Amino acid sequence: MRVSLTIGWLYPDLMSTYGDRGNVICLKKRCLWRDITVGILPINLDTSRKEILNSDLIIGGGAQDRQQTIVIKDLTANKATVLKKMFKRGIPGLFVCGSPQLLGHYYMTGDGTRLKGLSIFDFVTKHFGHNKPRCIGNTVGEMLNSKLETRNSKFKKTIVGFENHGGRTYLGKNVEPFAKVLVGYGNNGEDGFEGAVFQNVIACYYHGPFLAKNPHIADWLISKAMEIKYTKMIELEPLDDTLEWQAHDYILKKLNVRL
Ligand code: GLN
Repeated sequence: MRVSLTIGWLYPDLMSTYGDRGNVICLKKRCLWRDITVGILPINLDTSRKEILNSDLIIGGGAQDRQQTIVIKDLTANKATVLKKMFKRGIPGLFVCGSPQLLGHYYMTGDGTRLKGLSIFDFVTKHFGHNKPRCIGNTVGEMLNSKLETRNSKFKKTIVGFENHGGRTYLGKNVEPFAKVLVGYGNNGEDGFEGAVFQNVIACYYHGPFLAKNPHIADWLISKAMEIKYTKMIELEPLDDTLEWQAHDYILKKLNVRL
């Protein structure tokens, strides 16, 4: 059976500050290497709800407060209902840093402005301006959510990334953390959690590009998207991920992480 996938990419021009577009490239390649046809749908300010509904997987990257202020207006007015509906159906998503901050209850920007979020995730994010240091550096987490385990490629519980954020995220009780912080700040530098998972949507502070160094998460997103689209499990062909795991393990070694 010939299978295909459409990746909806939220605001590529406004939200791809730290190389997050690499996640889209990585997903596309991993599909093409398996003979899965891929379409990339850039979701911009003028993209209609009907077009968005064609996505089987949604990706969002990071941005600064200025772009986030533009984006949240459009998300709230034109895209909130359709995105919520899709996530409820199980459509998977990956949101890095600035984009998930807009999917919680609110994001308080560095100058104290409160941007009301979409409340897809039960969390809030506050940026304390110059009163707290920015959270920057290589980071490693241990995956806490067993539903994210894949059978398709080698699986590791570690996740590596590079964080760079001023906002600090505090989880509510209706959302699960994505990972336990082994090295780095994670959501807020206090409670030891990194990111969040709700339905099949992952929020995290891992830039990278994240998926290039974490092929297990890339494959989980692809197989989940296929499962929802075709209403059955589709086995993904294993790929030679020697280089991907080398990049992953390099960070583990550099940061002295052994699991
Ligand atoms: N503006 C946000 C912050 O500093 C997001 C930054 C980012 O996406 N890396 O917290």
